[in-house]
Amino acid sequence: MAKILRVDMTSGTVKYEDVPEKYAMMAGRWLTSSMVADEVDPECHPLGPTNKLVFAPGIVTGTRAATSARLSVGGKSPLTGGIKESNAGTKFAVMQARLGIKALVVEGQPKDGKSYLLEIKKDAARLLPADDLAGKGAYETTDALVAKYGKVGVSCVGPAGEFKLSGAGICFSDEKDRASRYAGRGGLGAVMGSKGLKAIVIDDTGAAGVPIANKALFEQGRKKLLAGLQSHDLTKPKGALNSYGTAVLINIMNEAGGLPTRNFSSGRFEGAAKVAGETIFERNKGLLGKEEYNHACSPGCVIQCSNTVRDANGNEIASCVEYETAWALGPNCGIDDLEAIAKMTWLCNDIGVDTIEMGATIGVAMEGGALPFGDVQGAIKLLEEVGKGTPIGRIIGNGAGFAGKAFGVTRVPTVKNQAMPAYEPRAVKGIGITYATSTMGADHTAGYTIAPEIAGVSGKLDQFDPNKADLSYAFQSTTAFIDTSGHCLFIAFAILDIPSAYEGWVEECAGVVGANWTAADVLRIGDEVLRTERRFNEAAGLGKAADRLPEFMKYEPLPPHNVVWNVSDEDLDSVYGRLDAK
Ligand code: SF4
Repeated sequence: MAKILRVDMTSGTVKYEDVPEKYAMMAGRWLTSSMVADEVDPECHPLGPTNKLVFAPGIVTGTRAATSARLSVGGKSPLTGGIKESNAGTKFAVMQARLGIKALVVEGQPKDGKSYLLEIKKDAARLLPADDLAGKGAYETTDALVAKYGKVGVSCVGPAGEFKLSGAGICFSDEKDRASRYAGRGGLGAVMGSKGLKAIVIDDTGAAGVPIANKALFEQGRKKLLAGLQSHDLTKPKGALNSYGTAVLINIMNEAGGLPTRNFSSGRFEGAAKVAGETIFERNKGLLGKEEYNHACSPGCVIQCSNTVRDANGNEIASCVEYETAWALGPNCGIDDLEAIAKMTWLCNDIGVDTIEMGATIGVAMEGGALPFGDVQGAIKLLEEVGKGTPIGRIIGNGAGFAGKAFGVTRVPTVKNQAMPAYEPRAVKGIGITYATSTMGADHTAGYTIAPEIAGVSGKLDQFDPNKADLSYAFQSTTAFIDTSGHCLFIAFAILDIPSAYEGWVEECAGVVGANWTAADVLRIGDEVLRTERRFNEAAGLGKAADRLPEFMKYEPLPPHNVVWNVSDEDLDSVYGRLDAK
């Protein structure tokens, strides 16, 4: 029987609750956003005692469904001031699902201001003092807990979360117990830090597993989706993602003139090829004497897109260096040194900060004259300052918007105070509409229109066509259900291009919950998730006026195409305006 595990950090107590009927079908983002909307005052201070953190695995997480080990984390964001769902692929998600913990809710704050460890086992959870872990990096914290507990999933915050910095994320262990998978965006690590929760260990020994209401339907759907993932060029074994990782996009976006460079002052970087996924693959081949294909971040992933960047001796510096990370700490800072980017990735993981937010922030600091573009050692030093909590470190650790004010910079690439990811919205209009209107702030994963605009998935669209409000909304709504299903977003390529894979995805989910869902239900549920999040944001003060890109994008033409942001405010307002009309 599924339960909600509620942890009260004020009293130091835990309790299991029955799942209210209204949440029975929900999981993942649908559940985290609904619980946050129901239980958190939109006007609360995100770092105060009345904010809550909700951890929820997806509908099919913990089953045999491929690429479905996703955990959603929700709360009010200290970065955007609105609702936040950020998800990660991790064994922690599978363990939570198999233990029947539909949602883990963390609330309150300890009166003694100390650090605590939450230990979760079958039918038992407790809070323990964690003075020995306080102030430690995420790698050391995870290593210590794995050494003590053995085969467990680990979640923790690094020093940035303990300092309550708005760029802090929540770390989860990967398949090799690396502290490398992050619910990174929106500062949820600061919320966890504000609750004195340094870490969580979860052990699913003896767990009953995930009940499946209609096994035949589930199995039928699972096979269809699996077949789609294993045949699509982007997701199949030794396909683009398995070979080159998400960093395959560096060369593609650079060619398209949409790779933000030197703090969003150009869409093309002369050193892009040096930090691209193909370069990582060829370099590893040379270092290891054989081809190295990528690995899975979490149990059951058949796409396996996680790369490894190695030093000159072939030893791992960091894994994984995603496209967003390689871009943020590379081209966006004028840096083309792959090993340095990997070192900064490791530092961000250890300190516990979002790599996108940090790369964007260092780019703003470079623009503001704190250090020159391309200054590798200066960038590393800034990250180290974040980990130490020095005044400059706290400026950087609070994100691009905060740093923009500190350094008097007007070219600040944020929406709702969250840094833009690695796609220049002036050069790729649909993703710009997603950045502007998403309930999450600037977030490519909220509605990844790059698929048709750049990758040609589900047809190829003109990247410069500004009339994409409908497209962005359709992607945002479908994505809300992907984030609910527990699948990695990268199944999107197969489900968009292969009708049977899409059918399989819906059937899997329907099989687990025992529903007769169709594609119409995907959009209905997606609408419901977005409506819930939008209402929360409006009550928090984030209405239409917050659905805008920064002004400089309207008057600064972006090389090499010399394009400006030209999507009308009316079009932007129409994206969520349709929810009022429904
Ligand atoms: S596709 Fe990549 S990010 Fe997604 S679950 Fe697999 S390894 Fe992790």
